[in-house]
Amino acid sequence: MLTMKNVIREGHKTLETVAKEVKLPLIQADKKLLKDMLEYVINSQDDEIAEKYDLRPAVGIAAPQVNVSKRMFAVHVTDFDGTLYSYALVNPIIKAKGKDLIYVPGGEGCLSVDRKTEGLTPRYDWVLFEALSYDFQTGELFPIELKVEGYVGIVFQHEFDHLNGIMYTSKLFPELPQAKPAFEFVTAPEAETI
Ligand code: ZN
Repeated sequence: MLTMKNVIREGHKTLETVAKEVKLPLIQADKKLLKDMLEYVINSQDDEIAEKYDLRPAVGIAAPQVNVSKRMFAVHVTDFDGTLYSYALVNPIIKAKGKDLIYVPGGEGCLSVDRKTEGLTPRYDWVLFEALSYDFQTGELFPIELKVEGYVGIVFQHEFDHLNGIMYTSKLFPELPQAKPAFEFVTAPEAETI
């Protein structure tokens, strides 16, 4: 299983490198990584497991964060309306995006960033992704189009940035007058680690 020992931190070259397309069909190691990444995120949200294995809570993780420079990420995040977005995606692309900008009030966090950062990160209010989604039952990939907005959209954009070697720390602004907060209150800053 993946733990924080597997997670590389800011300053590591892989985090600043554009990740490579995943070759298809998936090799066994890539299938395992997809499973391990989603498992990390799910486990990290379980207080008992997180404490036992010292997992920092997160809603997403990208392959470059475990030093694999390939275009894959996993998210497991529940929207404010209760909808769960649980995906392990391969070779995602952004097909379309909104014109308005939003941000996480209080700022974003990242498993690869150990320090507390100041500032807001602008994100599109919605994004339409096209990707291959990994089906854990069959071990196969299937194509999906996924429109994500608001907070969930921010999570996906944060992970997508990792595939392009972009850290949220390179996009920090003291204020964003043109943008709106994605939600009203910061209830649990720790849970917003993306
Ligand atoms: Zn991150």
